[in-house]
Amino acid sequence: NELEKQHNLVKSFDKTAEDLYKGTDFPWSANLTALLREKFKLEEFRPTQLVALNATLSKKDLLLLMPTGGGKSLCYQLPALVGKGTTLVVSPLLSLIEDQQIALRKLGIVSKSINSSTPKEIKKEINDYLSKGTKPVIKLLYVTPEWLSKSKLFKSYLQKCYAMGNLERIAIDEVHCCSQWGHDFRPDYQFLSLLKDMFPNVPIIGLTATATLSVLFDVQNMLNIKGCLIFRSSFNRPNLFYKVIPKPQQTEQCLEYLEGILKNKFKNKSGIIYALSIKDTEDLAQALRGRGLKVRPYHANLEPELRRKVHEKWLNDEYQVVVATVAFGMGIDKPDVRFVIHHSIPKSMESLYQESGRAGRDGKAAKCIVMYRFSDYFRGSAIVNSKTEETKLRSVLEYCLDSSTCRRKLLATHFDEKWNSNECNRNCDNCKTSTSVVWYNITPVCKYVYAIIEKAEKNEVHLTLLKLLDIWFKGGDKNLRVEDVPMPKVERHQAEVIVAYLLMKGYLVDYKSYTAYATNCYIQKAPGCSLAPGTVIEIPISASVTYRGLLKRSADAEGEPDSKIIRLD
Ligand code: ADP
Ligand code: MG
Ligand code: ZN
Repeated sequence: NELEKQHNLVKSFDKTAEDLYKGTDFPWSANLTALLREKFKLEEFRPTQLVALNATLSKKDLLLLMPTGGGKSLCYQLPALVGKGTTLVVSPLLSLIEDQQIALRKLGIVSKSINSSTPKEIKKEINDYLSKGTKPVIKLLYVTPEWLSKSKLFKSYLQKCYAMGNLERIAIDEVHCCSQWGHDFRPDYQFLSLLKDMFPNVPIIGLTATATLSVLFDVQNMLNIKGCLIFRSSFNRPNLFYKVIPKPQQTEQCLEYLEGILKNKFKNKSGIIYALSIKDTEDLAQALRGRGLKVRPYHANLEPELRRKVHEKWLNDEYQVVVATVAFGMGIDKPDVRFVIHHSIPKSMESLYQESGRAGRDGKAAKCIVMYRFSDYFRGSAIVNSKTEETKLRSVLEYCLDSSTCRRKLLATHFDEKWNSNECNRNCDNCKTSTSVVWYNITPVCKYVYAIIEKAEKNEVHLTLLKLLDIWFKGGDKNLRVEDVPMPKVERHQAEVIVAYLLMKGYLVDYKSYTAYATNCYIQKAPGCSLAPGTVIEIPISASVTYRGLLKRSADAEGEPDSKIIRLD
């Protein structure tokens, strides 16, 4: 299709571009290396950094995709020191700008930022420099898109700065916020579409950790830099260990598990626990505090002052863990985060990658754990608002259910990256244990589930996952039990896996019903879905788990006449 064609074009084109800009014999090359060592106190460039630096110093427009912690800031901070004019940095949040300025100050690099709360004298200094070219030169000037779109005066000064030849480069951080298709659209970023018209000779560098190619094309259109260079570095974070663990059913057991690892394996180590809702963060933080742990919640409803305090104390290791909603996100830059735990499944693969990616920014080993329980899928599903979000959530379900494929491969595939299987170095749960997979025939079980659902429908009862399982395990409402459906001789969570597969593969669907107070998710047979006679549905299950008593290995099903085997891999 069209997107794929463009996709391939970008790939081949940028391969050549990469070759073009990876050199170290540009007029600025020696200076770059010297500044890297002397100013930034760093040893050497990461490969994509060098390519991006050379391209932007060659005055090319470009979009740069690097994972969180990849070192994107350097790609505009360093060129700012090479040139003699000003680099305008557009960044979405004041807190992000402040963090960067603090880091720069530590390196002895002066930067300015202008926004509605900037003191008058400093505003004047900045405006004088921009409009009249008074000294000292401001090499790095940070603004929010809001300021850029609101202040006409500022725009007029920028134009003067440009006219005098002092506007050297425009860097747009978190550039995916331009696109309505991205997951973080910000209306004020739309104004940035004017920049290319206003300053046609100024190279633009857009930076992001999270964008699919379709979002990048959208960003190119929006910024008026169609066809600009796109560079991306591998999304693989070799030091992160990815892992999915079954989440205990009881809150108490769940707390015990967390307490155990926080006090032992992660003793004196810093981490983040992501929870689904504000209430979850508070309950969980409270409960862990009750067990003697230094833990605080973080979410959008906290007073800004308190939020800042929590963040700060966590940065200083006074708190071991922040239990956070996704509001604890952009700009979290603590190098020694040793673990990120998802207490409920994240809402998309992007979130999973992004949130886990806050671990191990210092390059040392760190763990990314997803606590998976099928019922959390329904809690997540209850708060998604569109088909797209539902699809995204389902891809996380797929990730969690997969007990054999390398986690890195699953992530890479999601981000359209080629994957060499040996690159994981057994640094994920599935590679580490690398058990073989056994195919199980789940057709009879599918029929049981259908029978339960059909009986409930006749009785006009909606089935939640919980109710469905209760009935299957011969609990719940007696009248809804189906005589021909035997009680499963496995653990409940194992029975859940089968229901999850049926849902993931479209044999079952979940649908929502809204009340004034809650959204309920129920399970139904997929419309028009019936099992044709002779159909055999198989699912892959890790050989280390036993399903005897409920499932038969698929080999036993073979040999049935005319059977049509469907493998749900
Ligand atoms: P991003 O914006 O891509 O998430 P940052 O620019 O905030 O990442 O950089 C993350 C960390 O990586 C910083 O601590 C930075 O000092 C470090 N870093 C950047 N470039 C290099 C490099 N070439 N070598 C070593 N560390 C680097
Ligand atoms: Mg950044
Ligand atoms: Zn792996």
